[in-house]
Amino acid sequence: MTPATETSADPHIATLSNPILHDEVVSARHFWVHTIKQGQSLRIVDLEGNQAVDLLIYSEADDTERYSAQDTVAAQGNLFLRDGAILRSNEGRAMMTITGTSVAYHDTIGGACSVESNTLRYGHHTKSQHACVENYLKASLPNGRTKRDIVSNINFFMNVPVMEDGSLGIVDGISAAGLTVDLRADMDVVIMVSNCPQINNPCNGFNPTAVRMIVTA
Ligand SMILES: [Zn+2]
Repeated sequence: MTPATETSADPHIATLSNPILHDEVVSARHFWVHTIKQGQSLRIVDLEGNQAVDLLIYSEADDTERYSAQDTVAAQGNLFLRDGAILRSNEGRAMMTITGTSVAYHDTIGGACSVESNTLRYGHHTKSQHACVENYLKASLPNGRTKRDIVSNINFFMNVPVMEDGSLGIVDGISAAGLTVDLRADMDVVIMVSNCPQINNPCNGFNPTAVRMIVTA
């Protein structure tokens, strides 16, 4: 019998078969930018449960090619991202593929929170609150990107059901502590994440928490 190693004791990496290239905990409300080469994989761990992970993808070779919610939804004929979903660019090309998810589905339409949407939805007293768009701007500027490069993002671990009348709900999450999503890069990509700071709706259980990013070969 093989004695338990540190690796096998860590449930978030025990099931990964390829070597780990990067392993980082992104604090609550913070952003994360990382390059992932074609064939490498990213595991996102919802460490404490119900934490929305807003994510955008850019082609490393030419960042005018980026994740497109419209192309992704149209090609798969479904609003939700499930196991096997291909995340497509504005050129229609596969950027990443979901190779595993322990949450049933992820959101393509809820978008990113911002100071503007917070004050409109929740009142002027929320104006000082940090939001995903501010995270995106801080993450974008050193890379030469600006507000016009921030497009409709994916919300991993977020539950945005479409109601009978066609309206969108932002309701209690379907995620839980320790649940994961695995993504394989189908081209060299730059990932930009906002670990959502929202405290005015249930998308983070009213309590933003840390997430873990594990990149494997
Ligand atoms: Zn947000």
